[in-house]
Amino acid sequence: MDAIQTTLRGDDTPAMLIDGTWAAARTGEVIEVGNPARGTVLATIPRGQGADIDRAVAAAKAAFAGWKTIAPRDRGRIMGLIADDLVAETETVARCLAAESGNAIRTQSRPEIGIAAEVFRYFGGLGGELKGETIPINTNMFSYSVREPLGVVGAIIPWNAPLALAALKIAPALVSGNTMVLKAAEDAPLAVLMLAEICARHLPPGVLNVVTGYGAEAGAALTAHPDVAKLTFTGSTETGKAIMHAAADRIVPVSLELGGKSPNIVCPDADEGWVVDGAIAAARFHRQSQSCTTGSRLFIHTSIFDSFLTKLEAKVAGLKIGDPLDEASDIGALVSKRQFERVCGYIEDGLATEGVTLRFGGRPPAEGDLAGGYFAQPTVFAADSNDWRLAREEIFGPVLVAIPWEDEADVLRMANNSHYGLAAFVWTHDLGRAFRMVNALEAGFVQVNQGYGQFPGQSYGGIKQSGMGREHSLEGMLESFTTRKAITFNAATPDPGA
Ligand code: ADP
Repeated sequence: MDAIQTTLRGDDTPAMLIDGTWAAARTGEVIEVGNPARGTVLATIPRGQGADIDRAVAAAKAAFAGWKTIAPRDRGRIMGLIADDLVAETETVARCLAAESGNAIRTQSRPEIGIAAEVFRYFGGLGGELKGETIPINTNMFSYSVREPLGVVGAIIPWNAPLALAALKIAPALVSGNTMVLKAAEDAPLAVLMLAEICARHLPPGVLNVVTGYGAEAGAALTAHPDVAKLTFTGSTETGKAIMHAAADRIVPVSLELGGKSPNIVCPDADEGWVVDGAIAAARFHRQSQSCTTGSRLFIHTSIFDSFLTKLEAKVAGLKIGDPLDEASDIGALVSKRQFERVCGYIEDGLATEGVTLRFGGRPPAEGDLAGGYFAQPTVFAADSNDWRLAREEIFGPVLVAIPWEDEADVLRMANNSHYGLAAFVWTHDLGRAFRMVNALEAGFVQVNQGYGQFPGQSYGGIKQSGMGREHSLEGMLESFTTRKAITFNAATPDPGA
């Protein structure tokens, strides 16, 4: 096994957090967690299943009674302590995260620790916003609403930005007074278990339980559990559908943050270096494009099509693909053999499709240092059509489709012609055009002249098959993790003194 620290406890056996203690799976079975850059095994994690989920949900249910009565600002204060500890452990957690996820430590894994800490701090400050309303019925009645927590939240997260996504579930749910069972992704659970260790230092037992295991076992058991009052999921659209079915069976609310095939529209006046940098950021090449917001359909105006792609190729050539633990690496490895093979399949499809040109990139390196890991190179295919497989399906790898456009209405029609509706990017100096475009684009998260991710406070989430519900914001927290109780006092009782 690699010499990477995989727990913060010293004892290097990653375990599940259930009711404040460290637990193996009831069956004793484990799952191997790999290092995708080296093809080695990093650690093993418990293969949690139904019995483990039962224990975790029971602990969360028991803890709810006490946790919901703690003042929201005090719950929020705990989130701040978690953020402080996380920042203090940055290097250990970042190394583990880079090793298990394949995300380069300098460009991705270390910054992700900061993002997660920021999320804890942001939601930690929102306890005082769990307000209700007063309702003017008539002068004799005092009618008001209060926001109450839902109970045990079942959270399921993927592997692409596991720490940040765990923080986005834990912090708003707990500040709102819920307790949680969170299932980490089997491909990248170790840094999340480290976060669980930090949380356990500050939280009463049972308030947060973190389980590991396969989706079809631990995940499915969590979604079907009768004592789980809310499901929140980030992952693929296909799994999202299964989770929504499970939620429907029990009529529990569900939030889904799913896939995307986001348009990245470059206008004729934007053939400039900063736009190329922005398109690279939007393409999420630094994270092997393993991001749901990836601007993977690059619509470039015909008049600048070749020139823009030439500039893009030159800049991408300057990015270093390498071991995620190497500070010099800009880009790391795909998370797993399964993802690697999937991405390679799309590349082969692109190479074999008539009318499609490979502009740069292509098959992964077959020789040299990178051949031993799941490395892919940034790849751009050019095609006239938005209607072929690579332009329609989410690849979750560094493969873009570049499509020329002539007419504004036409590019908007193509951009919106997708069953996804998560993010969209527009690049232009022309404010009028930008306004028309952002109004017309069917997406939950639209940026003009910027290719970043989301910041705390921005409601983030998709429309169409990209999901339902919003995260990252106060509104998202209130909508996802609280319910309103309407209360009315009828004051029209006789006055005893009259
Ligand atoms: P990917 O295919 O890229 O791993 P998924 O959407 O399948 O993406 O996985 C995201 C998370 O959902 C992971 O934690 C995974 O274990 C979990 N998961 C997968 N299938 C199910 C399922 N049927 N029920 C509940 N959780 C699942």
